[in-house]
Amino acid sequence: TPKVTVIGAGLAGCEAAWQAARAGYSVTLFEMKPQRFSEAHQSTDLAELVCSNSFRGAGMNNAVGCLKEELRRCNTLFMEAADATAVPAGGALAVDREGFSAYITERIASHPLIDLQRRELTEIPAEGLVIIASGPLTSAGLSNGIARLTGSEHLYFYDAIAPIIEADSIDFSIAWRASRYGRGGDDYVNCPLNRDQYMAFVAALKEAEKVPGRDFEKIIHFEGCMPVEEMAARGDQTLAFGPMKPVGLPDPRTGRDPFAVLQLRQDNLHATLYNMVGFQTKLTYPEQRRIFRTIPGLEQARFARLGSMHRNTFINAPRCLHNGLQYKEDPRLFFAGQITGVEGYVESAATGLLAGLHATAQLRGQAPLQPPATTALGALLHHLAASSPEDFQPMNVNYGLFPPLQGARMKRSERRLAMAERALTDIVPWWQKVSTTLSIPLQQTP
Ligand code: FAD
Repeated sequence: TPKVTVIGAGLAGCEAAWQAARAGYSVTLFEMKPQRFSEAHQSTDLAELVCSNSFRGAGMNNAVGCLKEELRRCNTLFMEAADATAVPAGGALAVDREGFSAYITERIASHPLIDLQRRELTEIPAEGLVIIASGPLTSAGLSNGIARLTGSEHLYFYDAIAPIIEADSIDFSIAWRASRYGRGGDDYVNCPLNRDQYMAFVAALKEAEKVPGRDFEKIIHFEGCMPVEEMAARGDQTLAFGPMKPVGLPDPRTGRDPFAVLQLRQDNLHATLYNMVGFQTKLTYPEQRRIFRTIPGLEQARFARLGSMHRNTFINAPRCLHNGLQYKEDPRLFFAGQITGVEGYVESAATGLLAGLHATAQLRGQAPLQPPATTALGALLHHLAASSPEDFQPMNVNYGLFPPLQGARMKRSERRLAMAERALTDIVPWWQKVSTTLSIPLQQTP
């Protein structure tokens, strides 16, 4: 029988291997631990949780709650292990860290069709179907191999991300839509600052609490991704001449250019999310919320994501991948997990499920079974496949990625519940169809 090779036995790799094996294919799963550990991994077990032991919100008011419920209904190993090792955590789903990884390790190691090989792979195998799931801290050798494949300009090693704001939390009695000098239509949202507001903002940035620096800072600065607080520290006017330059943006209320402007750029197809242009930052999360809400128009801002900087290996999925997972230039190769440009444990496991299914469909000579666009799985894939390649950034699942609901106006909380209901209604027939088409048992075997 044809074989599947999976590189990396983390959250995505284990799920991908599990799905292919359940469909009856033999899988060779390579894991470099304990021969080699990344700077964050410590345990010899598979599917290690490198930081928090939480899979975030359990309720449907949070899109990650909806995604987890979909993964539960698709009988994933990830949710089976999570439910078996859950610990009390209020409205979140948290797990016993060691118990969770031990559970998955045992299931994978005892599966008769999975051959677990404990060694680093530095080259992408030249034959057979391969799923690359080596994670945000992919070893240097393999990173070089991937860069040779995709071209180094499409593989990123560091993530300098700016905060993202939910559009309906912006105060449009102050902010307005326009592009600089009217070029490019109304693509940006602009928040004006007068001199006093700007000076207070710069002073707050200079004094704010920062996450301690690491050795990769020089590289980030070299590549022109300087943190906003770093720019403020270089001089009071640096930001006003940089990302907050006010020219060509007259405030419709005064007809004049303001002293400084924060620009927000549309971040998703549905225009429900906006990112703060040029605002990558290492400020602590509470400081970001406090200081960015002093910008006029953002007093009530809700952040879908806050800014950060860290090592994160990921490829430009919309440019390089077909359907968000399959390498365009070589259909033998799939990517899964954080390396595709999703963010988070649950999201990584979710793309592992999808890569495992897509690979299996290919082996069966079937077209990939795309999850419905209305589901969290569909929304996540859509982010990978249809984001703008020019400013592609990793992303947690969130309701801003879902297609809007048609019809009646609803409160935000009601809208989220309605989106979750729509998703969970649509996922069940899809999973049934997948199970039948790919001969994957509907129920997990004990
Ligand atoms: P991983 O789980 O990292 O799995 C990749 C596996 O591949 C690893 O076991 C690694 O040893 C192996 N590997 C790498 N290179 C090779 C090779 N060449 N050959 C063989 N094996 C290889 N997300 C959250 O939701 N919550 C958090 O608290 C959180 N904290 C994070 C903290 C850090 C420091 C980092 C880097 C990320 C964090 N993330 C967090 C983001 C993300 O959810 C996790 O990194 C998640 O584990 C990604 O899943 P993955 O399967 O893509 O990669």
